[in-house]
Amino acid sequence: MSARIAYRNARIWDGVADDYLGVGSVAVEDGHIVAVDENTDGDDVRDMSGLTLVPGLIDAHVHMTLDPGLRTPEEQLAVTDEEVWRGMVERAEGMVRAGITTARDLGGGKWLEIDLRDRIDAGELTGPRLLCAGQPVTSVGGHCHFWGGEADDPDTARGVIDRQLEHGVDLIKIMATGGMFTKGSSPRKAQFDADSTSAIVRHARESGLDVAAHCHGTEGIAHAASAGVATIEHCSWIGDDGRRSGYDPEVAAEISRRGIWVSPTINAGWSRFTRGDGKFEELVKGIFARMRAAGVRLVASTDAGIPNVRHQDLAKALPVFARFAGLTTVEVLRSATSDCANALGLREVTGRIAENHAADMVFVEGDPLTDLGVLESPVMVLARGRKVKGE
Ligand SMILES: [Zn+2]
Repeated sequence: MSARIAYRNARIWDGVADDYLGVGSVAVEDGHIVAVDENTDGDDVRDMSGLTLVPGLIDAHVHMTLDPGLRTPEEQLAVTDEEVWRGMVERAEGMVRAGITTARDLGGGKWLEIDLRDRIDAGELTGPRLLCAGQPVTSVGGHCHFWGGEADDPDTARGVIDRQLEHGVDLIKIMATGGMFTKGSSPRKAQFDADSTSAIVRHARESGLDVAAHCHGTEGIAHAASAGVATIEHCSWIGDDGRRSGYDPEVAAEISRRGIWVSPTINAGWSRFTRGDGKFEELVKGIFARMRAAGVRLVASTDAGIPNVRHQDLAKALPVFARFAGLTTVEVLRSATSDCANALGLREVTGRIAENHAADMVFVEGDPLTDLGVLESPVMVLARGRKVKGE
């Protein structure tokens, strides 16, 4: 029998409700929440008076192998596996101690992040629960081709997907458009035609895997939406002029109708766009207002690992995300907890302070439902019941 630990007298936000449940207690046993009530008992009782409990945060888009201190893919690729591994271990620990108890890794070249996932799952390393995509499916010479997932047609793409399956991935990533990160690829242009995109997504789904689609340009967004991916990453609506001029209400309606989640990767660094003449901010806010009016659902994500985007900074990103996307404080908190869990297929696993969910729990001082800043310095963090920060 493992010990039942009761965390008492905390103000609880369950990850879903518009307001706090009130002051109460949570019992944890075997890594899971086994009771949420007024005054539950345990073999060990901790008094959490004065603290607020929220679910562990979830980042829907990170790259564990990437060092945010490096500027180019060439520099990233020059890092030895040993150094990558050391960096990943540090980043994983930094993330979970910052309250990020789950993250979805959307691409690497050598499946090192899958070894990291497994060693964290085994309790050998400290870090968030990871879902990993392995090598993204991309066109020949396309976005992040250097990670090894090139395919020139649906047949070769099936081979790429099957190789990811052999390495034990949790989902498939497809580069539906080019990206900023890769010379010679165009963020505006689709990398596969609509039929190929659908065939690739169908093969992944028939293999039991969800698909996350990297999409900047509108054409690629449209392909991904009609192919029925689980999440659309970035969703930048890049039009023919190379700017964010390509918003298409019909595509947005399809995203909404199919229940596809959009993961806009707005990180803390976006606060730089709030300075200056304000035009970019107004443009982005306008697009988000239209997406939300169309019923498109959003999850929090940072693309951590790209230059200057640190893995532990999801909490810092949330106020910026809320500002651009026009979300209330509680809405943006849901986007990083229960909604994000739903988008990642983890509805029954994490994202809530509720019975039978993992004990992914963050205790903070202050009032996170009115001040997101308090999430930047958690007092105590439990990841699957294990204390990774705090007394
Ligand atoms: Zn990414």
